Parts: sequence; structure tokens; C-alpha cells
Amino acid sequence: MTKALVYIGLGSNLSTPKAQINTARVAINSLVGVCEQAFSSLYRSPPMGPQDQPDYVNAVMAINTDLSALALLRCLQQIELDHGRERKDERWGARTLDLDILLYGQQMIDQPDLCVPHYGLAKRAFVLYPLQEIAPKLVVPGLGRLSKLLVSCPLDGLERLD
Ligand code: ATP
Ligand code: MG
Ligand code: MG
Repeated sequence: MTKALVYIGLGSNLSTPKAQINTARVAINSLVGVCEQAFSSLYRSPPMGPQDQPDYVNAVMAINTDLSALALLRCLQQIELDHGRERKDERWGARTLDLDILLYGQQMIDQPDLCVPHYGLAKRAFVLYPLQEIAPKLVVPGLGRLSKLLVSCPLDGLERLD
């Protein structure tokens, strides 16, 4: 089976977010059948949704994998749990770790628990700007060139961290 080039969005705003992102990177690299291709800088972004929560630290990681998209989702959800992620009723509430599959090769997936490309990709500065750093020529299935998506996506307070 050929490997897919997959982009994962990482986010955290609790319990030392930078450390959460770094240990998540290590955990993703430890998955059997996963090989890191690129990792963006870390970024700081204001929260979406409820504003009474800390800023987020975000990054985007590219991997090669022979895991199916669904198998990868299950592995990422387990890593979220291992990092103390609690699922609450409030949408977009504070969390120790969020791992979203942004792109899975050029596939378009529309299943009850998996939508790829990620539905928020085109609107989220904390996804598009880190993606631009590691894949400037990317073409997003169904949406077109990343460079074009960036034109209509303001920074929204996003800052690159050192
Ligand atoms: P958002 O999806 O708006 O970024 P969130 O990441 O906080 O919000 P979660 O609570 O992490 O949302 O996930 C909610 C559900 O989204 C999960 O149960 C998962 O099955 C589903 N889901 C659908 N598509 C994806 C995807 N591409 N990556 C990760 N989860 C996805
Ligand atoms: Mg998310
Ligand atoms: Mg998520």
C-alpha cells in the first residue's frame, strides 16, 4: 500500500501548551507506520468561541503514513486522551490537546466521525499560516491553492513564536 502524505493540526491552551505540543509530536512519531516529514513553527492564537480561556499554541505537522484515515484518527484521539483531554459539552472550550486531521493526501472523506479536508481549514489562520510554512505549494482538494485561501484569511491575531 502506498503511503499518504497527511497534515495534522495541533493545538493546546492548558497545562503548559508548548510542552503538550512537543510531547504530542513525539507520540505521533512513535506510532507504527508514521514518519514525520515536516513540523511548522509554533504559533500563538486567540481562542475561537468562548473568550474566557487562555490563548492557544498551534502547529501543523506533515507525516507519511500507511495507516488509514480512520485508524489514524483513532490513534490521535488516544494521544489526546493520554494528554488529559477532557471532552465537555461546551464547543471549542479549553483543552490540553487537540489533534485534527487537516488533509489526508488528496482524499475527500465525508463520514459521520471524519471529515477531510477538515471543515474549518479554509477559515482558520492558525491552520493556514503554519501550513504555508511547510507546504507553500499545497493544493487543497475541493478548495484549490493554499496561496489563494491565504489571501482571504486575515491573521486574526496569530503570532509566530520563537
Ligand atoms: P473543530 O473540529 O471545530 O476543530 P474540535 O477539534 O474541538 O473542534 P473535537 O472535540 O476535537 O472538536 O472533535 C469532535 C469530533 O470531530 C470528533 O469526535 C471527530 O470524530 C470529529 N472529526 C471529524 N472530522 C475530523 C478531522 N478531520 N479530524 C479530527 N476529528 C474530526
Ligand atoms: Mg479542532
Ligand atoms: Mg479536534
